[in-house]
Amino acid sequence: MTEQLVDPFQRAISYLRVSVTDRCDFRCVYCMSENMTFLPKKELLTLEELDRMCSTFIRLGVQKLRITGGEPLVRRDIMTFFRSMGRHLESGALKELTLTTNGSQLERFAGDLASAGVRRVNVSLDTLDDAKFADITRWGRLPQVLRGIDAAQKAGLRVKLNAVALKGFNENELPKITEWCAERDMDLTWIEVMPMGDIGNEDRLDQYWSLKDVRARYEEHYTVSDLAERTGGPARYIRLEETKQKIGFITPLSHNFCESCNRVRITCTGEIYLCLGQEDSADLRAPLRAHPRDDGPLEDAIRGAIALKPKGHDFDYSRQRLDGQMPRHMSHTGG
Ligand code: SAM
Ligand code: SF4
Repeated sequence: MTEQLVDPFQRAISYLRVSVTDRCDFRCVYCMSENMTFLPKKELLTLEELDRMCSTFIRLGVQKLRITGGEPLVRRDIMTFFRSMGRHLESGALKELTLTTNGSQLERFAGDLASAGVRRVNVSLDTLDDAKFADITRWGRLPQVLRGIDAAQKAGLRVKLNAVALKGFNENELPKITEWCAERDMDLTWIEVMPMGDIGNEDRLDQYWSLKDVRARYEEHYTVSDLAERTGGPARYIRLEETKQKIGFITPLSHNFCESCNRVRITCTGEIYLCLGQEDSADLRAPLRAHPRDDGPLEDAIRGAIALKPKGHDFDYSRQRLDGQMPRHMSHTGG
């Protein structure tokens, strides 16, 4: 029996988020600059390497796998990878295979994802207004994403909407987005905008809309009650009595979920990040590539990395940067 991954603070590592590409067909203003330089292909893990990486983590006790990016569905042949991960669902070793997507390719892939065993998808969508959508994503078109969401629901996938809370942008759409989700039986989570990467000249402080204020806005429209439920992640939940909806809030800048953090992240180049808010990382690609037929050295490197998982993160009092700003892009680490 393989010994499961447990970090120095006795947290069992059961959740892996994997970025499969740094590329994207959108250029959301809070995530990327318009002229991004992407990594050379040889830097990225191949699909076979991704398979070995994820399968090793699953053998070591990971039960939930979330695929992200960049935009995971623009990676060529990514369905081969999803289908191949399906074998771990069938064996029962993996309990959930899921993805975070901008929805642009869902119309094409929803059926294949469902066949591979995916049951839930998170779709990132910040506005229901065509012009604002084009503004915030720069390259995206709303109808394409809406068709993607339709296709996902038709294929039987449970869709959760993730909206980044942006001051002066989607503030006034809160009731509209909320009701739209209720009509379609979709969960909704608001994400606080994080200071990540160099994204050009957008002023992030201008965009910052605190989730405390989002919650207060809900109270203007609905009867709100707090839910005790936690998922081991950064989300907190409220219930709207009128619609019976559960609304999530993700405040990555707060420290309040570190003690239950069960997750690690793999970048598209095979680095493992132990905490979204810290720079602690380790290279897993080298042991993976150096030993194409032996997963032992990869396993050792994973165990060595997990031993470094910090107790918690520290955006406000960062050890690295005074303002707590992380130098890397979400599209590299995987949001
Ligand atoms: N492209 C996919 C998508 O947009 O869902 C997956 C990758 S994206 C980096 C993952 C999530 O990170 C999205 O929900 C996106 O809105 C969020 N995100 C990106 N930059 C962010 C930032 N600076 N602050 C908060 N959330 C951010
Ligand atoms: Fe692409 Fe997602 Fe970043 Fe938007 S948030 S640019 S869709 S990776």
